Amino acid sequence: MLHIAIIGSGPAGYYTAEAAQKQWGDDVRVDIFDMLPVPYGLIRSGVAPDHQSIKGVTRRYETTALSDNVRFAGNVMVGRDVTVPELQNLYDAVVLATGAPHDRKLHLPGEDLPGVHGSAEFVGWYNGHPQFATLDPDLSGDTAVVIGMGNVALDVARILSKTRAEFVGSDIVGHALDVLDTSKLRRVVVLGRRGPHQIMMTPKELGELSHLTRAAPRVDPQDLPEVGEDALLEPGMRKSVNHLRSFAAIPASHYADTEIEIEFDFFASPRAILGTDKVEGIEVERTTVEAGRAVGTGETYVIPAGLVVCCIGYQTSPIPDVPFDERAGRFANDEGRILPGLYCAGWARRGPSGTIGTNRPDGFGIISKIAEDIGTGAGKQGRAGFDALAQARNLEVVTFRDWKKIEAAEEGRARDGAPREKFVHVDDMIAARG
Ligand code: NAP
Repeated sequence: MLHIAIIGSGPAGYYTAEAAQKQWGDDVRVDIFDMLPVPYGLIRSGVAPDHQSIKGVTRRYETTALSDNVRFAGNVMVGRDVTVPELQNLYDAVVLATGAPHDRKLHLPGEDLPGVHGSAEFVGWYNGHPQFATLDPDLSGDTAVVIGMGNVALDVARILSKTRAEFVGSDIVGHALDVLDTSKLRRVVVLGRRGPHQIMMTPKELGELSHLTRAAPRVDPQDLPEVGEDALLEPGMRKSVNHLRSFAAIPASHYADTEIEIEFDFFASPRAILGTDKVEGIEVERTTVEAGRAVGTGETYVIPAGLVVCCIGYQTSPIPDVPFDERAGRFANDEGRILPGLYCAGWARRGPSGTIGTNRPDGFGIISKIAEDIGTGAGKQGRAGFDALAQARNLEVVTFRDWKKIEAAEEGRARDGAPREKFVHVDDMIAARG
């Protein structure tokens, strides 16, 4: 029998478990650990609450989770409750699928001022991640600056712009909805250090900005390259740029009825966050793009703002005893191999890029490497050994069956039209399993 421990129950974790089942069938036992009592990682805490169809992928993970040879062990923090070397002693292979839950830093003066948030904490706040449930962002100013031109920046700009009615059917948590209700924002500036041809936003997500009730996107036509230059772009990117062109064509009169403008500020690189007790603005330098890189022109200006959200990418959290590549912000690995018996998959392996589906080949890839490396296994104790350790340490391990009770309780307390109202405190999650 082979014993595999997977750390992290998001997409990379469950696809790796699915791959292990396909590889070894009844000859493998897989334990999936998560620091939270609830599964699904990024699907629960990262995917936007108004993108419920994307969250539907958890049905696939549930099929894996409910099979006899896969087990969920929630509320277990690896590195605190159990160490990686301890797991390596118990399991033939340990796969770190812990994602990239930490914000990359801007490394600019003022970035620690109140009112400046990384996207991990801001997204975690509106998605009810227990670590960020108390964030309580200040939306009393009229301008927010969102730094970055990726899909996370789009999510944040859209969530900041929607009316309460537009959240019907979403699972945005009640505390976020209440704060958003008090918002005085009139302007959301999306700041990109490069130009329209270098955005990381995908067409479907950009297109959503055209259908908001009280908000409308604004693009300065002068920022757009000649139309003929779009022919050089790959098709998806061309569609994204077409959206920007349609935003640039919105007549000025349209904005008279618009409560919130979502303004794209291209060729604009942040230089400093300004303010004394809290953020008051951001100093920005105009850039040009040379050989694909943003180059400062020396021209600077200030955007007054009461809220800044940095959506510039994520990094993996280091775990004691695991080699970490500080520069890349992920575990040091060679195509997923970290040390003998220790592997990584998903964002923890390759950094925060790609879609949820990209994690599937990743999971299958790491399992084929494990199969090459470990043969038929070394007679490790696996879950029996972990259970003994958990009992000795009084760990309160949450099972998948417990999660189904928590899930039912969240569905039971949902607002009208919402799929669920998440518990945002670990104690409440644990209490809900009865
Ligand atoms: P991303 O796509 O890598 O975008 C990061 C953005 O931050 C880029 O525009 C980048 O500009 C900018 N940036 C980085 N460092 C900066 C700095 N120091 N100053 C100013 N700007 C800076 O990352 P993401 O938006 O966090 O998304 C992560 C992944 O999740 C992506 O693969 C994304 O597609 C995916 N995702 C998908 C969805 C969806 O499908 N609905 C939703 C959310 C996220 P440069 O290009 O100039 O570096």
